[in-house]
Amino acid sequence: MAYKISEECIKCGSCEAGCPVGAISEGEDTYVIDADVCISCGACEATCPMGAISEA
Ligand code: SF4
Repeated sequence: MAYKISEECIKCGSCEAGCPVGAISEGEDTYVIDADVCISCGACEATCPMGAISEA
């Protein structure tokens, strides 16, 4: 199951660099995780200052 970024995202960008498989990119309103690329490692969850990332 892939991780997901909620609307709490303030687009700080801290999660993008933490993803080992490059699944995170900047979307229109929030950063987004490509569910087909995400390996559910959880590395991004801890990098988010807003607690906006959780397992979908
Ligand atoms: Fe990337 Fe891991 Fe977060 Fe998935 S769970 S988006 S693979 S850092």
